[in-house]
Amino acid sequence: METKDIKSLTLEELKAEMAVIGEKPFRAVQLYEWMHRKLSRGFAEMSNIPMAMKEKCGENYTYTALRTVSVQESAVDGTKKYLFALGDGNMVESVWMRYKHGNSVCISSQVGCRMGCRFCASTLDGLVRNLLPSEMLDQIYAITLETGERVSNVVVMGSGEPLDNYENLLRFITLLTDANGLNISQRNVTVSTCGIVPKMRKLAEEKLQITLALSLHAAADEKRRELMPIAHRYSLEELMACCAYYFEQTGRRITFEYSLVRDVNDTRQDAETLALLIRGLNCHVNLIPVNPVKERNYVQSERKAVEAFAALLAKKGINATIRREMGRDIDGACGQLRRRYIEEMKER
Ligand code: SAH
Repeated sequence: METKDIKSLTLEELKAEMAVIGEKPFRAVQLYEWMHRKLSRGFAEMSNIPMAMKEKCGENYTYTALRTVSVQESAVDGTKKYLFALGDGNMVESVWMRYKHGNSVCISSQVGCRMGCRFCASTLDGLVRNLLPSEMLDQIYAITLETGERVSNVVVMGSGEPLDNYENLLRFITLLTDANGLNISQRNVTVSTCGIVPKMRKLAEEKLQITLALSLHAAADEKRRELMPIAHRYSLEELMACCAYYFEQTGRRITFEYSLVRDVNDTRQDAETLALLIRGLNCHVNLIPVNPVKERNYVQSERKAVEAFAALLAKKGINATIRREMGRDIDGACGQLRRRYIEEMKER
């Protein structure tokens, strides 16, 4: 029989569980504190929980834990990239970045991905499975323990499409921002999506204060369809209406992610089309020089083209920044590290 994943339960649910296994409600508070504040790796280290109760918990619940497979640290900017093994042996990667305003962690939301974006390494072998809320938290908890520093920002921009794992994502956000847990402010959480319109609308209605980032990458339908299969499902017109709705519902400005690929989407014409498309929307554009993936033949835009692109947007009154490329020397874009590891294992 499959047992309940204890780290994915809210404090209220955990209290109800204590009644089921014949323990007092205050035990839920203790367990929750061990899991989400002290970041315990298992029941064994919970010193104020009686042995008999630990055993009972072990029988009744699953306690997820990650194993750190590798950590790479950038010599340039201190960025760290982690490869973790999940309980079932699947791998995910996470990135830790230090900024002036605090430490940021980029987490994965799925093992693999089924969205099929052409330039992305995470999707090359399709979706393996969704991550549990606890497994998303575990990436942050493991990194907090390893660095010994508080994480203040979380971006769900690693492998996977978070809105394709909607219920688990929401539960993860609830636990992450809970005052009894790490208590990270919703405003410091960013969720990045390739643009699943119905889920974006649903998310808008949750009225969270998180930032929604939309991976746009092209400002014309035809071009976007070449890069991102999801664009066959939802047109840019629908997508833009949905972004306006998101802002209306939450008051939160949308971030557009735009990865620049040489001669594909980085021309002056592309910048003008983009400016027209998002005119009037309360938004911010993040320009990212595409990270070459060896299985794909996309090439990074030249620095000059990136700067000209940003300048044109600025001239049109659009708020745009060029993303600093952190950790370039330690394996760029999402999915690359896991992929390389799996390939190396195959070769052995
Ligand atoms: N599925 C979500 C989140 C994961 S991808 C999404 O699509 O937004 C996080 C971001 O990295 C997305 O904007 C994605 O398009 C981008 N990305 C993926 N591969 C990349 C690469 N090789 N170079 C630059 N950006 C890439």
